[in-house]
Amino acid sequence: MIDTQIAVIHGGNMDEDIIDHAAQLIRDGKLVAFPTETVYGLGANALDAKAVGGIFEAKGRPADNPLIVHIGSKGQFDRLTDGVKDIAQRLMDAFWPGPLTLVVRKSPLVPDIITAGLDTVALRMPRHDIALALINRAGVPIAAPSANISGSPSPTTARHVAKDLSGRVHLILDGGPCKVGVESTVLDITGERPVILRPGGITVEMLESVVGRVKVDPGVIRPVQGRPVRSPGMKYRHYSPRARMAVVEGGLKDIVDKITDLTRGYISQGKKVGILATQQTYGQYRDFDNVISLGDREHPDTIAESLYSALRRMDEEGVDIILAEGVAREGVGLAIMNRMDRAAAFNIIRV
Ligand code: AMP
Ligand code: MG
Repeated sequence: MIDTQIAVIHGGNMDEDIIDHAAQLIRDGKLVAFPTETVYGLGANALDAKAVGGIFEAKGRPADNPLIVHIGSKGQFDRLTDGVKDIAQRLMDAFWPGPLTLVVRKSPLVPDIITAGLDTVALRMPRHDIALALINRAGVPIAAPSANISGSPSPTTARHVAKDLSGRVHLILDGGPCKVGVESTVLDITGERPVILRPGGITVEMLESVVGRVKVDPGVIRPVQGRPVRSPGMKYRHYSPRARMAVVEGGLKDIVDKITDLTRGYISQGKKVGILATQQTYGQYRDFDNVISLGDREHPDTIAESLYSALRRMDEEGVDIILAEGVAREGVGLAIMNRMDRAAAFNIIRV
């Protein structure tokens, strides 16, 4: 057991000392959890294979699921990849710092444990002052997957991190809740045409405005069992609450009717039901307890922001079944539905 410290970053002078301390821990091969604009990351020195091994151990992460390396400046990109392509430059100029991860050919500097033996590496420059200060003060790139136990919903607050990883991480930097709320878009640019391996805060439309057509890997939308995967993370159970979950997709009125029917049915069987609604529908579930509005359908980024904390709240309430309203699979909605599908183990009800 490690004695986990939690340090709150307030935005004042004292913060320098905390960041210095955190950076020293990273250089010493220790684990530090820190906020990014997407979710909290569990960080270690990316150039230290032993420290990186600690990440896999702390999370219980399968060894064949590679990690994203976070960098503090665009200049660090060149050292970690072999040969910068024009397309990488255009994407970095447009979206970095930000929630876009680029999969590129790796340089020999990147330890194999990070890439799970692949000859590519995933790189990202986060848009978050604390993350950037930590990486730059440490003076090394930082490997960081989401700071949760593998399989559970990703953490968007320091409290979520502490719940999962207390005793397994040396320091948690508390920078408040994450703004984007879902993980970065992962874009493979090693082939002819860029391929989205995981949808996220940077949408298909945004990418296409910079690089022309991008492909969405089929694994983004469907389960990948029995097929080879381009991104190992696709094949694992993910983002899952303890409760069983179903996503209801279709016209809005039909969704509400279906969830209402299902909820009545489950309650009559003595089950405790949680409903993930939206601002537009929240009032229609007045008869039920445990209803959370994820956000505004007109602004799906508000739904992305609150999704994981809502899943965690449902588990804290001890519900048996979560019924979630689907959203349109476009823009950020593609990322939201990708996470909901997996949280529900592809238990999708179309109405
Ligand atoms: P997480 O660390 O939880 O944000 O997950 C990182 C995601 O990026 C996982 O889905 C990984 O499979 C994916 N990933 C990381 N490195 C690579 C790579 N070299 N090639 C393809 N996918 C990758
Ligand atoms: Mg993760």
